[in-house]
Amino acid sequence: MQSINPFTGQVIQEYREYAPEEVEKIIVNVDQAFHSWKQTSFEQRAMCMKNLQARLLVQKEELAGIIVSEMGKVKREAIGEIEKCASVCGYYAENAESFLKNELIKTEATESYISYQPIGTVLAVMPWNFPFWQVFRFLAPALMAGNTGVLKHASNVSGCALAIEQLVSEAGFPENVFRALIIGSKEVKAVIENPLIKAVTLTGSTPAGRSVASIAGYALKKSVLELGGSDPYLILEDADIETAARLCVTSRLLNAGQSCIGAKRFIIADAVYNQFRTEFVRLMSEAKFGDPLDAQISIGPLARADLRDELHQQVEKSRQLGATVLLGGNVPEENAPFYPPTVLENVVPGMPAYHEELFGPVAVLFRFKADEEAIWIANDTVFGLGAGVFTSDIEKGKSLAEKGLEAGCVFVNDFVKSDPRLPFGGIKESGYGRELSMVGIREFVNVKTIVVR
Ligand code: NDP
Repeated sequence: MQSINPFTGQVIQEYREYAPEEVEKIIVNVDQAFHSWKQTSFEQRAMCMKNLQARLLVQKEELAGIIVSEMGKVKREAIGEIEKCASVCGYYAENAESFLKNELIKTEATESYISYQPIGTVLAVMPWNFPFWQVFRFLAPALMAGNTGVLKHASNVSGCALAIEQLVSEAGFPENVFRALIIGSKEVKAVIENPLIKAVTLTGSTPAGRSVASIAGYALKKSVLELGGSDPYLILEDADIETAARLCVTSRLLNAGQSCIGAKRFIIADAVYNQFRTEFVRLMSEAKFGDPLDAQISIGPLARADLRDELHQQVEKSRQLGATVLLGGNVPEENAPFYPPTVLENVVPGMPAYHEELFGPVAVLFRFKADEEAIWIANDTVFGLGAGVFTSDIEKGKSLAEKGLEAGCVFVNDFVKSDPRLPFGGIKESGYGRELSMVGIREFVNVKTIVVR
């Protein structure tokens, strides 16, 4: 398995894949660790978690450097990612106990209540786009709940996987509470089927989610899936257009557009279409791509050349079918897999840019006349992860958010961001289950009913 720096093209390191017997042995060790870890108090767990939080902050420069070298995001975003990991550790260290405390329920019995108990070792299959954050938003609640974890990270970010494993160990967690498995995706089936693995969570593409969910389903193990998105943003006639355009561009270009909750489709009221388009294209054109270590650069290369080529094919095929390219849409000369900020309009059903997730800095503009039309375009997708509404009429924005848009999270007058305090996840083919907040920590626990006659 190779980690290749997408900016320089150089092989950073080669990793030997673990043999099936090694994987089996690690899982046995992690299961053994579970039996003592589940007996620890919340206080003990929180102490380790706070150490982990502190270590992340102390080592943020160095850890961000691993992210930049393995997947190419700009350094300041990588540092922000590490800081966010620290915040989720602190959040669950502070709150896990109250989220999982016994809940009394009045019945005819002397006493009846719900007790939230850990379930064992959970497998996390994680992607490369936020190679620390995606892992930590699983790891922090899972370990605080008393579970143990094994991580199968994306094949191009093994350095991040091993760095996280080491951080957990150095933070004082008992040995084998959290382990990385350096394996390819074909080996995931055997891990899920291992009787010592009790559940699985995956963040990644819809095909990967489908495969993992079907294996877990057959094995009768719980799964949580956080898959792709093609997030729609409604720009209503009464919106503050400059702010809307600025926030929409920020969201679209974050992580070079490689984010499941990136704003991707912009559905704009006819009366303000031209104004929004002009401002949006202007801001997109200002974003420069280049060396992710250069502080002046807005977007780095995409994580792998195949991902860039796939994105360009989606744009090119849409263009051939009649889409208009307002900005970008060409593969730059550079050796690194850059893709320029790109804006498309006149996109209609039948084009890849209409139906598929565009995992890079490519935006699609639509025009609408009536609100019903806007909602129809927004929901005409297999995805249902995030969405946004820009309007000065907050009540209308909330109503569209609650009753109109088919999504797991809708932000009014802002772009969607994950926040440890709020549930995160999607509907439709964007997956099921939730991460983060009280809801997230309760996904992988035994909701146990206790009744005393
Ligand atoms: P994948 O979904 O293929 O990879 C995500 C993780 O799943 C990796 O650890 C990968 O391992 C693993 N995986 C892949 N296929 C399977 C499988 N059949 N069974 C078990 N595990 C599997 O993402 P890609 O890197 O190929 O990116 C392709 C597209 O996926 C992107 O263009 C984007 O649209 C979407 N994506 C969405 C993400 C999100 O945040 N929702 C994140 C990343 C990608 P391995 O690396 O070894 O293949």
